[in-house]
Amino acid sequence: MQTTTLSLADSQNWRGAALIAASFVTHEGAAYWLEESGGQRQLAVLAPPDHAALADLAGQPGGERDGYHLTLAPADHATARWLRGALPWLTPRPIGQHTSAGFGDRLGLATPGHIRALREVLAATPGATIAPIFAQQSIREMARTHRTPAAVLNDATWGTFAAGWVAGVGADADHLKTPEDIDACAAEGYSLYTIDPGLHVDDAADGDDPATLHTKLGAVPWDRLETTAADFLRRYAGRTFALEARSLTLSEPEVIRAAVKYGAAIAYVARMYRHLITKGIPTELEVSVDETATPTTAAEHLIFASELRRLGVQWVSLAPRFVGAFEKGTDYIGDLDALRADLAVHAQIARVLGPYKLSLHSGSDKFSVYPLFVEATHGVGHLKTAGTSYVEALRVIAAADPALFREILRFDAGRYPTDRATYHVSAEVARLPDPAQVPVGELAALLNNHDVRQVVHVTYGSTLDQFHDAIFGVLRANQGGYDAVIARHFVRHLAPFAVVPAPAVK
Ligand SMILES: [Zn+2]
Repeated sequence: MQTTTLSLADSQNWRGAALIAASFVTHEGAAYWLEESGGQRQLAVLAPPDHAALADLAGQPGGERDGYHLTLAPADHATARWLRGALPWLTPRPIGQHTSAGFGDRLGLATPGHIRALREVLAATPGATIAPIFAQQSIREMARTHRTPAAVLNDATWGTFAAGWVAGVGADADHLKTPEDIDACAAEGYSLYTIDPGLHVDDAADGDDPATLHTKLGAVPWDRLETTAADFLRRYAGRTFALEARSLTLSEPEVIRAAVKYGAAIAYVARMYRHLITKGIPTELEVSVDETATPTTAAEHLIFASELRRLGVQWVSLAPRFVGAFEKGTDYIGDLDALRADLAVHAQIARVLGPYKLSLHSGSDKFSVYPLFVEATHGVGHLKTAGTSYVEALRVIAAADPALFREILRFDAGRYPTDRATYHVSAEVARLPDPAQVPVGELAALLNNHDVRQVVHVTYGSTLDQFHDAIFGVLRANQGGYDAVIARHFVRHLAPFAVVPAPAVK
């Protein structure tokens, strides 16, 4: 093979400035890169005419060099799917018990910035690994942004390819609530399935009196749990379970409360898991009860996990509802010492009953939590961020188009009372500054204000309905600026997680 033909320099000489150098990669005798001109992107593949990978690529001939043929294909959904088949590191895969981070990206433009941050923190700590999940979107987010599982995955694929990340990726089908949600994401090849049984959690159980709990105990779906109330109580009530640094003795009242609070949720997770494994594809499961009203106690976590295991469920990570408040777009609200103790016991349960990872949901901007989380999990956990990449995009808009930014803030203030309904947030419209009174040079800094940040964080769906083309127009014209803003913000998120984990003790 004439390797010079497949060199970056030769291809740049040939194709000029359209070639995005960071994307250039060779694999099995062919070269691949992304080109951009006039705002349009296309995939370029340079390969011998009989190269097997080219068989299904729907593209146009783009010329010939040294016997190699160039094929050009639009950077669309079909080509993204083809590219994942051609370049295996773009295919989402299970990550297992390794530190990982989810980078929810509601606009589909943030992956190159995420990759820049990831490279920076990994380069600073030799031996550390953080497995990335660039495609991650909850069903609620997809509905609000009118995106499909395919669109979310394909945008991440293009971003990963453009930035030249070849170390592998996962893809998180987040907060799934129905078997149909699983079907839609499995069809696209997602690798991580986050099951949210929150609708089946009885939050009232924490305040119920003993008589009410006894009545509710009879209504737990024992048949679907494939057990009886009596057997359940025998398994846990009065029993002592050894953790690492302590043990846990479960009283009958707390066992009954756990059955009432989580029984239906456990049955639901088992049902979703069994549906997922019928797909026969390599996947892993996360269980999340973080979006519920009351904290998950140690006893409840232990029972939840033990029952899942009895039902044959295998999972890679679990997100309890920790103590305190994990509001959107802002740091932790609560007592950090109480959180440290809470994380410690949950992490011990996860190691002793698994090991599986603890997952930190609503992980955007929780800067005071990261060191505690890393300490408790011995550096093996999952960080999930979602909205912060969208909020930071508005920083770019504030600088590039102040009038648009002011208009968005005014619009969001009007939407917030409605859009906040499904979120845990404390921002108040009355506390919002009037954007018209803020000098242009200080507009971006408004995004450091708690109330502004939360208001724009939860109104993104309405905002995109109203300003979609204007927002994308500014960001596409300032992609380099957006990459830099995202990279700076995510270095702060990722640096605490870039640790070399101690060898597991079991
Ligand atoms: Zn969550």
